[in-house]
Amino acid sequence: MVIWQELQRYPKHRYFVESDGGSLVHFWRIPTTDDWPMSSLTERLQQGEVLLLDGGVSTEIRRRGVALDKNVWSGLATKTNPDEVLAVHEDYIRAGAQIITANTYSTARHVLESINLGHESKMLNLKSVQLAQQARDNAAGEAVLIAGSMSSMPPLTSHREVAIDGHVESSYQELAESLVNAGVDLIIAEMMRDVENAGMVIRAAVSTGLPVMIGFSAMMADNGVDVRSLRWKNTDDTTDAHDFGEMVDELKPLGGLAAGIMHTRVEDTAPALKVLREHWSGPLLAYAETGKLILPDWRYEEVSSPQQYAAEIEGWIRDYGVQIVGGCCGTGPEHIRALRQLIDSLDR
Ligand SMILES: [Zn+2]
Repeated sequence: MVIWQELQRYPKHRYFVESDGGSLVHFWRIPTTDDWPMSSLTERLQQGEVLLLDGGVSTEIRRRGVALDKNVWSGLATKTNPDEVLAVHEDYIRAGAQIITANTYSTARHVLESINLGHESKMLNLKSVQLAQQARDNAAGEAVLIAGSMSSMPPLTSHREVAIDGHVESSYQELAESLVNAGVDLIIAEMMRDVENAGMVIRAAVSTGLPVMIGFSAMMADNGVDVRSLRWKNTDDTTDAHDFGEMVDELKPLGGLAAGIMHTRVEDTAPALKVLREHWSGPLLAYAETGKLILPDWRYEEVSSPQQYAAEIEGWIRDYGVQIVGGCCGTGPEHIRALRQLIDSLDR
């Protein structure tokens, strides 16, 4: 009876129903090609649609018991635990994500070289995209888009906040080309928080001709008022973090379809969106980090509940017109499921 009522409400959507033989266990809405007409991503955003990304990929890989490398983080899971990576993508699709992110955040050549695996970079990136494509084939139709991730991350044990040493620029170019060759639909530039590194990432991503979403990471200055680019390593480097608005102004001539705030604390996201709205006129995205990171296990504690997180996102949609939402570190499929319900309720 419940199923019938839901199908009446959304007749064009496909549902995935999991049952334990008698009672209903899960009832998932899956995007179908009906959800994703031929119009391009650009047109859909211009029409005011709100699109749903996945949640934290590395968080979910770790939650499934996969060890993260001290330099390459979740990047090696594609090689060592492909079944878990595949399952993470499938879970996000079943939760309602329309865009899933391949596990390529930390697999640029300059990161892999820290463990002498630079020569495996192309293979790992191809395989990571293939796992996302396989998840789409298994759990959805053509409706789900696949994003390749490019990040600012240096090898994690580096004292640098972002990767700028050596042949990083050519490494980003190689990664961007690997992603486009593997068949991603778009690229997300993640944790952009300076000018030099972010400039290299965005230029390489934009050069592919694919849609590029720019994810800035920000935090409040000590005065509790100004917004700065995110710093998280307690290193000897005492240079000030960038003024956030000035940084956006320097980077926006490089292009990008959408820009927003990601891997930023939930409470810092709204002030950062407010600044970004003043400096960026295109579509906005937001997916925050939630909870307290416990090292060296890379676990997250005190994570916002899916309902709390969805309520924050609802505010960002309402107050800043954010159109691309999802979750970052600390979030999982339950958060995305709550966001799916939120977006569906906005549609009605
Ligand atoms: Zn994150």
